[in-house]
Amino acid sequence: KKKGKNHFSLFDDIMQKELVEEHELTADLNRALLAENEIVPWFQPKVDRNGRFIGFEALARWQHPERGLLNPISFIELAEKKNLMVPLSDQILLKTCRLMNSWREQFSIDNLTVSVNISQSQLAMGNFPDKVAKTLVETGLPASALILEVTESVIAENIAASIQQMGRLRAMGVRFSLDDFGTGYSSLSYIRQLPIDELKIDRSFVNTLLSDSETRSIVKIILLLADALKLDVIAEGIEQEEQWQALHELGCSGFQGYFFSRPQPPEIIFKQLQASYE
Ligand code: C2E
Ligand code: MG
Ligand code: MG
Ligand code: MG
Repeated sequence: KKKGKNHFSLFDDIMQKELVEEHELTADLNRALLAENEIVPWFQPKVDRNGRFIGFEALARWQHPERGLLNPISFIELAEKKNLMVPLSDQILLKTCRLMNSWREQFSIDNLTVSVNISQSQLAMGNFPDKVAKTLVETGLPASALILEVTESVIAENIAASIQQMGRLRAMGVRFSLDDFGTGYSSLSYIRQLPIDELKIDRSFVNTLLSDSETRSIVKIILLLADALKLDVIAEGIEQEEQWQALHELGCSGFQGYFFSRPQPPEIIFKQLQASYE
């Protein structure tokens, strides 16, 4: 009996700590969103067959004054839970478009795109397409330079409404990418209906590509599918040269991963662009 009670009070202690922790982090996040310099996009290059930049993916980071640099895993779920995902995403989108436009103007890289991840709560907002349009006008970034990344689960929440919102954005010239492809519940007929321009092969496939012949077959089929539907393809999470080579041989034309570059702060991307284009 006694043991049982201790067990429960230990459990209560942990729960209590987690609640306090969550409460603190929520207060911090609210403050961070007002501070405007803590939630920032980092950028990971996307490259072509020759390893040349074709664009960047913006990935949210939180420069926390005490806890240091935080990755999305430690704050995105909290932001969703506390209804802070829309203001957070608005900041990422605005900062990303601003930076990308300044790089385009300085280095005349008209052909490079920037990809921004979109959450379910954003796509569900009726005014999302207007907000994107406003951000593009405000920052000067052409719609053709922007790619929005959605996952199957983001769309599946309400397929009809998602398709409609995506259609409005595509009519403006914004493109869509289906992120983490192969991990959701995609059916082939549904892929055909989606207004998308690009597939991102999930990194779990890239991970096991060299060791597992069935993964290799699946990747082959994804590449055939993309070709048939005239979609661009990016393979995510490439960490080794051999993975790049294997994907290259299978006909993949776009790549992203630590092998080429980890996500970097804007200052580093700026320097890399300076080195490549100035
Ligand atoms: P994602 O969109 O699939 O982004 C790719 C994730 O894989 C990033 O993690 C990236 O740093 C990581 N990655 C890239 N190359 C490699 C590699 O070679 N090996 C390994 N192991 N990992 C690699 P990150 O930045 O921690 O982001 C995680 C997820 O958080 C993203 O997955 C995306 O779903 C979400 N996320 C990030 N930023 C935003 C944002 O601004 N808005 C929304 N809604 N979601 C975001
Ligand atoms: Mg993504
Ligand atoms: Mg992904
Ligand atoms: Mg993901």
